Order: sequence, then structure tokens, then C-alpha cells
Amino acid sequence: MKDVPLKIDAEKCTGCGVCIKACPFGALSLEPREKFDLPESRFKRIVVVNDACTGCGACVPTCKFDALEVIEVERVGGSRVEDYRGVWVFAEQRDGEIQDVVYELLSKGRELADKLGQELAAVLLGSGIKESAAALFAWGADKVYVVDAPGLKEYNTDTYTDVFAHLVEKYRPEIVIAGATSIGRAFIPRVAVRVKTGLTADCTGLEIDDEKKILLQTRPAFGGNIMATITCPDHRPQMATVRHKVLKKVTPDPSRSGQIVEEKMEVGDVRTRVVEVLHEMQNQVNLAEADIIVSGGRGLGKPENFKIIEELARELGGAVGASRAAVDAGWIPAYHQVGQTGKTVCPKLYIACGISGAIQHLAGMSSSDTIVAINKDPDAPIFSVADYAIVGDLFEVVPAITKMLRE
Ligand SMILES: Cc1cc2nc3c(=O)[nH]c(=O)nc-3n(C[C@H](O)[C@H](O)[C@H](O)COP(=O)(O)OP(=O)(O)OC[C@H]3O[C@@H](n4cnc5c(N)ncnc54)[C@H](O)[C@@H]3O)c2cc1C
Repeated sequence: MKDVPLKIDAEKCTGCGVCIKACPFGALSLEPREKFDLPESRFKRIVVVNDACTGCGACVPTCKFDALEVIEVERVGGSRVEDYRGVWVFAEQRDGEIQDVVYELLSKGRELADKLGQELAAVLLGSGIKESAAALFAWGADKVYVVDAPGLKEYNTDTYTDVFAHLVEKYRPEIVIAGATSIGRAFIPRVAVRVKTGLTADCTGLEIDDEKKILLQTRPAFGGNIMATITCPDHRPQMATVRHKVLKKVTPDPSRSGQIVEEKMEVGDVRTRVVEVLHEMQNQVNLAEADIIVSGGRGLGKPENFKIIEELARELGGAVGASRAAVDAGWIPAYHQVGQTGKTVCPKLYIACGISGAIQHLAGMSSSDTIVAINKDPDAPIFSVADYAIVGDLFEVVPAITKMLRE
């Protein structure tokens, strides 16, 4: 049997096979005892475990004979939990430009690293990107691992997974955080599987447990109705993705410096080839970057009424957002949606018009600096997060504000 995190007591196992169904990874099966050098037994078969076992322990309570035990084993590269040190941030770049979410992650990463008394490193992959590395020190990085290779010119899930997983196995960071962007969502879970650890996607909060010194990863669960705090106590690295605008950026310190570690790596053949890169349609609003957002909800009544939202947004130099109810009704395209299943935004000013303030909407906008809510229902939940509550008919209030701004 291979060295896996589950010990099977050959004397206690009766070969009943009840545990097999409990394994979510298909890691258990029955084999004839005679295949192995085992003590005499009246039972003919024994459970065996393969290397798909993650040591999750789901099988343990199903065994009536106490024959199963989760144990700590040597991990990839012969390392143990204690061998992993340091906090890593995936420094996502597009066309050589570091993405804004990276600065947010570094700001939080610095805090986490300080609490652990460890180093903060950024990992930068690409081609011709070496010069971008130095800028990451100002945001808190002590070190930047750079893999600069022609094969990394365009993002490719296979190559990014190979390269990042190799770095994790080589340097063994304790924590890895990345943006929950289309790139982060595509390859970071693959890295987690490759290095046999867990991943909490779309976190809204990251902290260090003062006592156990492990990462507390908070994210909405059960349709956003509860916030779950997830930990990964037995595997390393502890990995999480966080959406853009969820974490606050610190003020960069240009006087900071650090160490650049250049990793030379062969980037091998891939299954897919990028033929052409098309940029997002010009008319798609970049809600995540907007400083001012005026959002409309079901209270608008019909699609044409979004005109008053657009007019106010234009007057303020802001972008138009929407609740899911308005999007689902087909009043406005989905890329305007703010919330748990839409964009997470953190503008300086968020004006919610005719939006009730369901928890899933709040999940995407409640960290805005200033929130103004316009609703005719004085008990609307949106008022619980609003800095300014305007109880009234949006068809009177919104045009009045627009008119005032024009005058
Ligand atoms: C898994 C899941 C994910 C979801 N993700 C999202 C998400 O990403 N984003 C999101 O927004 N929702 C999301 N939802 C839906 C969410 O639960 C709500 O249904 C939705 O946000 C309601 O939209 P609303 O506030 O526009 O509509 P309503 O809840 O119907 O509220 C309309 C509001 O308009 C007010 N109003 C009506 N007329 C006027 C008027 N003339 N003047 C002033 N006020 C008026 C009413 O008092 C009411 O408060 C999700 C739901 C689930 C289950």
C-alpha cells in the first residue's frame, strides 16, 4: 500500500466494505487478503486505499470495527505542514499591467504575514514582465518570484498550473492567495489539486487565528444566507481566492525594496494555443473600477425607466449598476449586475434606487465608502447599510437630484 494519510488496521478490518461508499474520492476498494503479506484472518478480503486519499476522514466514522485512522504522512516533496512558510500573492498581470486586485491582496497579505511573523512574496508569471516586479515591493512584498518565459506570453491554464504548482512544491508557502478573476478562478483550483491541498474560492474575509496560527477564510454560503469561516488545518498551502474590491488597499510605500528571485523554467507543450486575444466590448461598463455607481432595481418598474438612472450616473460621471431582479427581468444586461452573483464593487459613492437590499445584493456593495439609498419603504433592508437614507418615490427623488446637479 502507498504512503497515504489513512491507516488501515489489518487485524481489525473485516473487509465489510461499508467505508467504500463514504469515500468522496473513490480511494477505497476491497482486495483479497492473500495478495498481501498479512497475519492469518478468518476474513477473506481487506480494504485498501489508493493515493486519491486526501485524509479527509469521511470514512473513519463508518467503520464499526475502528479499523481506520487518519494519520499525518509525508507530503509532496517529503514535507510536512510545519515545513511551509510565508504568504504568497499571485501577481496577475495582463499585457504586462499588474491587476488592481493584486494590490488589495498584497495589502491583506502583508497583514497576514506580519501576524505570522513570516515573509510576503508575490509571484509574477509572464513574458517581458521583469520590470513590473519592482513595483510590488511598495505594496508590501518582501520578495517577488518572477518566471519570465516566452511560453507565458499569453495566459494558458496548463502552463500557469504547471509553473505555479512547481514553485509551490519547490518553495512551500504556507498561504497562497489570488484574485477570483477569470484567470485566478481557472488555474488556482488546479494548482490546489496538483499540490493536494484545499481551496476556498471567493472569500470575503481573511484573518489569522490568533491561537492556532491558521488562515480563517470567510465566504458566503448557502445562497449567501450565512457567512462560513473555512480552515485548512492539515494541508499546505492554505489557498484562497478573493474578488476584486473586497479587500482594502493600503497606501503604497515607494521607499520599500525587496528581493527578486528569477526562476528559469522550461514552459512545455500545451494542449491549447491562443490564436487571438479579443478585448471586452467597449460598451461594457467596468463597474469594478468605477468611483461612482448609480444602481437601479425592481422598483424602477420597467426597462425604459433605467433612463433616469443613466441620466443621474452621467451627471455624476459614474457607472450604472443593477440588482439581479432588474437583470433577470431583462431590463439591463447582466454585466451591470452588482452582488453575490454579479460584480463586487467598492466605489466612493453607491446610490441604490428602488433596491430592497437583499443579502445577495449587499454582498456586492456594502463595502462602498458612502451609500445612498432611495426607497419608498422605510423598512427596506438597504437602509441598514446606507449612510444616507431617502425615503421617497424614486421617480421624484432621482430626477430632482439630476436636475439639481445640472443647475
Ligand atoms: C444565490 C442567489 C444569488 C443572488 N445574487 C444576487 C446578486 O448578485 N445581486 C442582486 O441584486 N441580487 C441577487 N440575488 C437576488 C436577491 O435575493 C433579490 O431577489 C434581489 O436583489 C432583489 O432585487 P431588487 O432589490 O431590485 O427587488 P426587490 O426586492 O423587489 O425590491 C424592490 C424595491 O424597490 C422599492 N420600490 C418600489 N417602487 C419604488 C419607488 N417608486 N420608489 C422607491 N422605491 C421603490 C421597494 O420598496 C423594494 O424595496 C440572488 C439571489 C440568490 C438566491
